[in-house]
Amino acid sequence: MKKIAVKTPIVEIDGDEMTRVMWHMVKDQLLLPYLDMKVEYYDLQLKKRDETDDKITLEAAEAIKKYGVGVKCATITPNKDRVKEYNLKKEWSSPNGTIRAALDGTVFRAPILVNNIPPSVRSWKKPIHIGRHAYGDVYKNCEYRVPEPGKAELVFTNTSGKELWRGTIQDFKGPGVIQGIHNTDKSIESFAKACFTYAYDQKLHVWFGAKDTISKTYDGQFRKIFEQEYQKNWKTKFEEAKLQYFFTLIDDAVARIMKTEGGLLWACKNYDGDVMSDMLGSAYGSLAMMTSVLVSPQGFYEFEASHGTVQKHYYKYLKGEKTSSNSMALIFAWTGCLRKRGELDKTSEVVDFAKKLEEGALETVESGIMTGDLIAVATQNSKNRRVNTEDFIAEVANTLKKKIN
Ligand code: NAP
Ligand code: MG
Repeated sequence: MKKIAVKTPIVEIDGDEMTRVMWHMVKDQLLLPYLDMKVEYYDLQLKKRDETDDKITLEAAEAIKKYGVGVKCATITPNKDRVKEYNLKKEWSSPNGTIRAALDGTVFRAPILVNNIPPSVRSWKKPIHIGRHAYGDVYKNCEYRVPEPGKAELVFTNTSGKELWRGTIQDFKGPGVIQGIHNTDKSIESFAKACFTYAYDQKLHVWFGAKDTISKTYDGQFRKIFEQEYQKNWKTKFEEAKLQYFFTLIDDAVARIMKTEGGLLWACKNYDGDVMSDMLGSAYGSLAMMTSVLVSPQGFYEFEASHGTVQKHYYKYLKGEKTSSNSMALIFAWTGCLRKRGELDKTSEVVDFAKKLEEGALETVESGIMTGDLIAVATQNSKNRRVNTEDFIAEVANTLKKKIN
């Protein structure tokens, strides 16, 4: 059989622990037998980031800017324990944070739906997508451990060196903590634009929640920019398509999400999106049943799994024990990447391959073959069979083979 040619190199960003193990199985069994694909490979496993003083992370982001489309495995964001475990020079920042800061943009997440896993929220009939602003706020903060009594201030000096504003954060009577965060009009505008564009394409309503009653200036600016973008560029189109744009306070949005039917894009500020996408993933069955893509305003795409490196399973794997980790999100990261690459290169065979692989993965789960995370929440059926990490990928490979031959 002749392999399908992928015209432009794919930026492949490898990662850590259990997801790294699955990443290579997915590549070897589901992709390489069928694709003639060149990759620009960046190994972001923690040790490599440490060896390169994290330069490799920036190089990976630059490669996405060069080629347009990348796919990323989950990576460890080191904390104190990891510094010890891997004997690191320092607590390197989150690679996702670094790449997102370099590309700007919005992360869109959508559930991977199968007919034998009902969402745990009864009212959800249609998917709820999340649009997570991927720039700024606490992910690009400046923070300080206040050691003793004193005054903390926020100061803005313009580029000519003139102090334009100064405000007191707190007069500390004892030790504490402070944090400075920021965002830019430009990034918020592109976030709003990306959300309306995505929702309009997919025929979804847009909800946006912030806390502008408390944060009148910061969150207020987000609300204002969304409203301006909607009024200026989308109102007429949305009304014609019978779609709504709905702003509400973030806590009200959370309460209403539990009662909605779905069929909407929930635009979330960076932190809200981080937290809420995991809630959504888990309510739709598992953290591994979510797709995730970073879309930059310049039209660069980074596909990833939204879950972490599944550390607990990896330690079992290292001890030689059987694991049952779910590779769906990793498979869908690759198919998302290949589909986009194929669309940009105008190679319909590549797009078609991505579609077949997704169908193969979905049909495998729908036939009752599942990893442990899904078995626990799937509709009861005598056909259901819990398989381990390797066997799940092998079963998807079998289903795919039948579709291709
Ligand atoms: P995690 O890797 O997402 O795993 C948390 C738990 O969720 C797992 O212990 C497992 O539950 C379940 N789970 C997640 N993915 C699964 C899968 N594919 N199949 C089956 N079960 C799955 O989060 P974490 O353990 O908090 O973080 C581990 C590391 O990942 C950390 O070092 C963190 O920095 C990093 N991280 C990376 C990213 C990223 O690069 N995108 C995102 C988040 C976290 P059970 O143990 O109950 O089976
Ligand atoms: Mg997270």
